[in-house]
Amino acid sequence: MGGRPDLLVVGGGVWGTWTALQARRLGASVRLVEERTPGDPKTTSGDYSRIIRHAHGEDGLLVGWAQRSLAAWRELGERTGRQVFVESGVAWFVSGDGAWEAASEVQLRAAGVPCERLAPDEALRRWPALGTEGLKSVLYEPTAGFLRAGDGVRAAATVLRDEGGEIVRGRATPAADGTALDEHGAPIVAGATVWAAGPWLPALFPSLVGADCEAAIVPVRRDAIYFDAPGMGVGEVPTWIDEGLEVWGIPDDEGHGAKVGPEFDAGSFDPGAWPDEAHPSSVARARACAVRFPRLQRAPIRETRACQHERTKSGHYVLDRHPTNPQVWIAGGGSGHGYKQGPAVGELMARAALDRTPIVLPDRRFALARRDGGPSSPMGEMGAA
Ligand SMILES: Cc1cc2nc3c(=O)[nH]c(=O)nc-3n(C[C@H](O)[C@H](O)[C@H](O)COP(=O)(O)OP(=O)(O)OC[C@H]3O[C@@H](n4cnc5c(N)ncnc54)[C@H](O)[C@@H]3O)c2cc1C
Repeated sequence: MGGRPDLLVVGGGVWGTWTALQARRLGASVRLVEERTPGDPKTTSGDYSRIIRHAHGEDGLLVGWAQRSLAAWRELGERTGRQVFVESGVAWFVSGDGAWEAASEVQLRAAGVPCERLAPDEALRRWPALGTEGLKSVLYEPTAGFLRAGDGVRAAATVLRDEGGEIVRGRATPAADGTALDEHGAPIVAGATVWAAGPWLPALFPSLVGADCEAAIVPVRRDAIYFDAPGMGVGEVPTWIDEGLEVWGIPDDEGHGAKVGPEFDAGSFDPGAWPDEAHPSSVARARACAVRFPRLQRAPIRETRACQHERTKSGHYVLDRHPTNPQVWIAGGGSGHGYKQGPAVGELMARAALDRTPIVLPDRRFALARRDGGPSSPMGEMGAA
């Protein structure tokens, strides 16, 4: 590796790749160090698909990030000629108490995000494959959908290279002050460093995000099952989430199968020993969601994929400065909803690390310590430069 970049990013998942790209677009020289390749299937960002939705309960901040990110994903698809975002719509099937969806609807309307409230009969007319047992209503986001996840990271990496960023294959480890060392233990000198190593972060920074920390990032196993289910493709069913049944799904896209993801922890996860297939309990739970789409009860399974959830205790991301080195930053803990926010998180991290963010966020939810309440985070608000 030659030269001293303004910004070094470790980890070429969705957050690291977008951080590098956004920094480059701010005029910085950038090096991205990735142990595998950006969008590798055995990373959190490397699955076929991830949901992009605006609804986040009472949380208006993340609605805005999703709007901003969706525009960037669309632009990335146009730029590369590979459609990354698929506007399948996202349906929130209300079978629980509906409080989360009600709060979301208030926030969506306030932000001007298109949304509809459908009665079960109307939903069945639109999506004949639907099962309406226990269904009270549907909150529908017609302009949301899913992202082709591995492809999205690869597209962002391609654009990063095209725009003059450097991508280097290698494994970095942190020195005592949080700066990066290469595989030979030599310093990788850079103006600032962002660590975006997903579920590998707790092993790299056990004293900051290890199991005993306030901002612990805990890799747990969450799997996805792809069914061979005719009539459940894009345009035939929406992307969907049923909080009451604790399951979500994405229509069959490009022949991968109708995807079902049970909200079920199938044990802990070692990201270094990524299993090839889903845990049998995850498959059973996915079948159990047949009440919502009855044809899944007997549909053959086309593929199963193990995945890890790099989750924090609060469910909030970790986006913060290293406690003793102001030139080092940590970005991780996507907690099952981080993929879609790649462009927004990337912009935030790039601005923060390059010191271009004078405005502070109103709370410390993304901080390494005292994550809720307390004084303002050092993180900057986007677009404030
Ligand atoms: C089953 C499941 C479903 C999900 N569904 C959704 C969803 O619908 N919508 C959504 O928005 N989000 C979803 N998420 C969350 C989302 O996928 C993650 O938050 C996001 O992909 C994390 O990206 P990342 O860049 O932080 O980590 P990763 O994608 O894991 O990237 C980390 C990268 O760092 C590299 N790396 C690690 N250590 C080193 C090192 N020492 N040196 C160099 N490189 C290193 C790795 O090779 C990897 O490429 C889901 C997650 C799971 C598990």
